[in-house]
Amino acid sequence: MDPGSPEERANAYDAVCARCGGPVAAGVGVLRHGVRGWDVYHRAHAPVPGPPPAGDHPGWHRRRLLSLDIGSTGNRPWRDRITAAAVRGSDGVARDWVLDLGSPAQKTSPGSDVRDPRAGSDVQAASPSPPAQALDELATLLADHLARRELLVVWYAPHVLTTLHAELLRHGLAPLADRLPDGVVAPVCDPLVLDRHADRYRPGGRSLPAVAQWYGVAHERPGDPASDARAALGVAVAVAVAYPAIARLSRPALHTEQVLWYAQQMERHPDAPAWPFEADAPVEG
Ligand SMILES: [Zn+2]
Repeated sequence: MDPGSPEERANAYDAVCARCGGPVAAGVGVLRHGVRGWDVYHRAHAPVPGPPPAGDHPGWHRRRLLSLDIGSTGNRPWRDRITAAAVRGSDGVARDWVLDLGSPAQKTSPGSDVRDPRAGSDVQAASPSPPAQALDELATLLADHLARRELLVVWYAPHVLTTLHAELLRHGLAPLADRLPDGVVAPVCDPLVLDRHADRYRPGGRSLPAVAQWYGVAHERPGDPASDARAALGVAVAVAVAYPAIARLSRPALHTEQVLWYAQQMERHPDAPAWPFEADAPVEG
């Protein structure tokens, strides 16, 4: 929120500054939404809008986190194809894949307009791979992490994980659930769900760039899977650092709570895909 934005409201009546206790004449102060309603401040004393201050409490954010993002041909998870994928770990792990949708094994029409996600990015190693090989490597890496009961961070998991599920089936590969001992894809950490839950009434957009900016997380190239995966990881940690009650949840509880929070958040969108994903068969064409 910029100072002087439409959300900035002055006090209609004489009041007392919530920070210094001094008098604030009607019209010269500024209102901020506090715990018990609107607080009045001298303009110089108003808190700068931003997340709660970072705490040094323990929590899941101090464990090894792995963050996944994909590039895809669209937003129809049962139909669209994965064009690129990136995994970033809190321990420095960095893996990137570019899927060669034009390879002979594929039926995609040549010359399809797939932006090269490596352009201008820090990815040197990823040369185009046959999709089945890339998807199998990716699923192996993710399943290995989840089998250790560690959190997989995915910004808007229903899109990413549903698309991944359909793509694995499309290529005759085992989906993530079949690669896990108990057959359940968990624990997943979706920073979009966490942020919406933690700060439900914040005005402004909830795109990854907007949310990353709110938490002061670097996000150099929105839309680039590597940059998005790193930013999602940063936002997940930033939410946990700002909200001890979320950070304190055990990893299984964090997963289960997100199922409930997401259902509440999507109350008015009955067609929204389930969280963390839907295990449906791919659709061709
Ligand atoms: Zn004051």
